[in-house]
Amino acid sequence: MQSDLKSKLESALEAYAVRSGHALQEVGAVLFDMDGVLYDSMPGHCRAWKQMCDENDIISESDEFYVYEGRTGASTIDILFRRQFGHGAIDDDVKRLYARKSELFRAEGPAPLMSGARKAVETVRAAGAIPVLVTGSGQTSILERLNIDYDDAFPIEHRVTAHDVKYGKPDPEPYLMGLVKAGVGKCKAVAVDNAPLGVESASRAGVFTIGVRTGPIPEGMLREAGADIEIFSMSECAVLLKELL
Ligand code: CA
Repeated sequence: MQSDLKSKLESALEAYAVRSGHALQEVGAVLFDMDGVLYDSMPGHCRAWKQMCDENDIISESDEFYVYEGRTGASTIDILFRRQFGHGAIDDDVKRLYARKSELFRAEGPAPLMSGARKAVETVRAAGAIPVLVTGSGQTSILERLNIDYDDAFPIEHRVTAHDVKYGKPDPEPYLMGLVKAGVGKCKAVAVDNAPLGVESASRAGVFTIGVRTGPIPEGMLREAGADIEIFSMSECAVLLKELL
């Protein structure tokens, strides 16, 4: 491990102990976000959101969907409605619009795996820790591929998806649920997320949070959102996890 990354990790662990009131102990589980962490799927998601909006005369900007990343589809549609119409979306609209967005995303074809992510997950399993999926997505097209792409590392009982949660990120609920599914306490887990709202969720859950900047967001934004350490790639994340485990 490079010495600059090592010293960055050491100071992150010290600061984590101060903010959380406990040191990171022997790590029993690593909670992985999906889009932008396990899959390089965010560009496709953003194109699908934008096209769905254009088709339905909903005003939007392509890049704003990077900022909403981590929210459930229903929550994102609600934001768009409140901004344009001054009220939230009814369930029928949410279902119809999210179904169309999902259809457009599927038409993008399979999203590529994020470079370095398989190595990161393998590192967790090799150390005897439990990988857990914590995603705001309910996108079956990608959830169904997980077992194949990640060698059954994420069985159903170790997944938190849009279907499990009431509030979703940035609420701590999804990561807290991930801890329960893993059967480990917050002082024995690490979270990996690429989006400000996801990082906020993990950080508020009291978990040591690795922010991976895989998308077009400014440097430092994940630290501001609560990441204990901000890095640039899943390859770097695999190195960090090896050190932590
Ligand atoms: Ca994400």
